[in-house]
Amino acid sequence: MTNNRLIERLPKAELHMHLEGSLEPELMFELARRNNVSIPFESVDEVRAAYEFSNLQEFLDIYYQGMAVLQRPADFEDLTLAYCRRAHADRVRHVEVFFDPQGHTKRGVSMDTVVQGITGGLERAREELGLSSQLILCFLRHLDEADAFETLREAEPYLEHIAGVGLDSSEVGHPPSKFARLFAECGKHGLRRVAHAGEEGPPEYVWQALDELEVERIDHGNRALEDSALVDRLVDSAMPLTVCPLSNLKLCVVDDMQAHPLRTMLDRGLNASVNSDDPAYFGGYMNANFAAVAQSLALEPSHLGELAANSFRSSWLSDAQKQPFLDEIDLIVTEFTAV
Ligand SMILES: [Zn+2]
Repeated sequence: MTNNRLIERLPKAELHMHLEGSLEPELMFELARRNNVSIPFESVDEVRAAYEFSNLQEFLDIYYQGMAVLQRPADFEDLTLAYCRRAHADRVRHVEVFFDPQGHTKRGVSMDTVVQGITGGLERAREELGLSSQLILCFLRHLDEADAFETLREAEPYLEHIAGVGLDSSEVGHPPSKFARLFAECGKHGLRRVAHAGEEGPPEYVWQALDELEVERIDHGNRALEDSALVDRLVDSAMPLTVCPLSNLKLCVVDDMQAHPLRTMLDRGLNASVNSDDPAYFGGYMNANFAAVAQSLALEPSHLGELAANSFRSSWLSDAQKQPFLDEIDLIVTEFTAV
């Protein structure tokens, strides 16, 4: 069996995926027609051709443009269910997905529309696929603190559907410390906390996310490797890093996949997992991300099992829910290496 066969068989959890980043060009066109929204592209091929980025900001510009087609609850439901089906086909068995409400409320689409649609999609995925899920509200860090507090206020009626909060969008120039008071308030609401840090931003941003936002996962975290005291801290606390290989390549965080730090992270004892970030834009879902690092970094079957196990260990499932997946992963890797 090849590594790809092992990747297909392993159950996985996805912890770093932006629902709006799973908007495939075909669905973008369908929703544009349905809602009579004009988009600056003539064809699906033209959209795909536009997905060439040299940094995070170039991607974000087109990402916010694409959101314009999402107008009604049914649009968000279709988007969510399409992602869940695609992830499930890669043997993803649990997802903790991000959404960006400010990207919608800013253009006149209400929090109610967004949450109603997404939770409807997640519920259908639970019924149709047996896929369990949690929802994470992300604040856009390029906007100011007052805007984020207003968004939290708008989300208050829906907190039963929202497990936690995150921080995304343009990293450099928008340090985690900008949102320390907001995250403290979210903690008082019983919300779990994660944040993007160390993708393009310096190790200092990872320190801030840990100490000032009190996060329980770091999204990306690549640049933590530049600071050995930080690596020690992350290893000692088994802090999850939700790593996104194809995203890193597409946004030029790494020059080529052979230079990706994932294997170094595992070798240094970091709790890293594999995730797809914005799969419609970055060229692949869960298994494509696994396959890319497996090949480029010459990962062993034991590494692949560790990455899959880390995804469940780092999830917000209960210990009792995690254990059957961890046992299954052990069994599959043992069988695979015995062949
Ligand atoms: Zn992300």
